Amino acid sequence: MPDIAFVNGRFLPWKDATVSIDDRGFQFGDGVYEVIRTYRGVPFELAAHLARLERSAKELNLIQPYSRVKWTQWIQQGLSQAGYQEAKVYIQITRGMAPRDHAFPLGISPTVVMTIRELHPLSVQIRQDGVTARTCDDLRWGRCDIKSVNLLGNVLAREEARKAGVFEAILVKDGLVTEGSLSNVMAIQSGTVVTAPEGPRILSGVTRTMVLELARKEEIPVEERFLSLEALYGADEVFLTGTTLEVLGVVRIDGNTIGSGRPGSITKTLAARWSILTG
Ligand code: PMP
Repeated sequence: MPDIAFVNGRFLPWKDATVSIDDRGFQFGDGVYEVIRTYRGVPFELAAHLARLERSAKELNLIQPYSRVKWTQWIQQGLSQAGYQEAKVYIQITRGMAPRDHAFPLGISPTVVMTIRELHPLSVQIRQDGVTARTCDDLRWGRCDIKSVNLLGNVLAREEARKAGVFEAILVKDGLVTEGSLSNVMAIQSGTVVTAPEGPRILSGVTRTMVLELARKEEIPVEERFLSLEALYGADEVFLTGTTLEVLGVVRIDGNTIGSGRPGSITKTLAARWSILTG
């Protein structure tokens, strides 16, 4: 089955799917993106992802080229061409193509790219055992709520994690935990789920919102506030949330064992509820 590429309203063979060297996404990282996954061929929480894409674009004064209805049609068309049951749909919108000049050029149209690739889920073993993480300085800009393609802070942190042989980099700003390089971070303290509040320091994850709803339904208290690094090390449980990670236990951070060293009971409850939701 083929991976699918789409550029400016046309599905193309992968090798022909190119954008200009004058594109502002390439020149300045002047663009936004979204990642949507499917379960059994059906996009999960598509409306929430498209709403976030619209919001990100609006915050950067980017023209959103397609309505939600049109996006839904393009995505369905791509998915049926790809035929994958578990797929990752990547959408990117940049301000468009113009000779390099920082200020917004007048009269250009956005560049729109979509790719659809097969998603290889994490192994059952990893989910059972949990993963390791290290912390890194959060070097990112002041608007992490915008899902911008300008990901250098995340990229550098991710590389630190790779070099350290751990799964994720947890970002720390002014002594407080913000989020992961590609995930939101939640901790359990005395039975309460604690996670950084929405705002410019984090990306408001679609999974984050849903997991907090699941917790409230289970009558697990939720507090949206920043945790110090010490509080993170001392938490009873820590887990990551994200579109492809779902709910994933973290058992060691910077060499400190979290809880019992295995994904804890609240993490397991929420992961099980997540499987029901998506299964
Ligand atoms: N934070 C960051 C920095 C991310 O890259 C992601 C993944 N998109 C998330 C959080 C999780 O967001 P979502 O649950 O919408 O995938």
